[in-house]
Amino acid sequence: MGERQTRTRRCKQCHRPLGERRWGRPKRFCTRWHRVRYWLEELAELVFG
Ligand SMILES: [Zn+2]
Repeated sequence: MGERQTRTRRCKQCHRPLGERRWGRPKRFCTRWHRVRYWLEELAELVFG
């Protein structure tokens, strides 16, 4: 219990822990490609799903 609020964010694609101190914004993905891939999957779900 109480594991929902974790400070370390993880990449939504590969679930790797991300560091937040590098950039000012919170990151959801470790690389640009993973972000694009996740976005494409969501788009595909909207179109085909
Ligand atoms: Zn990743």
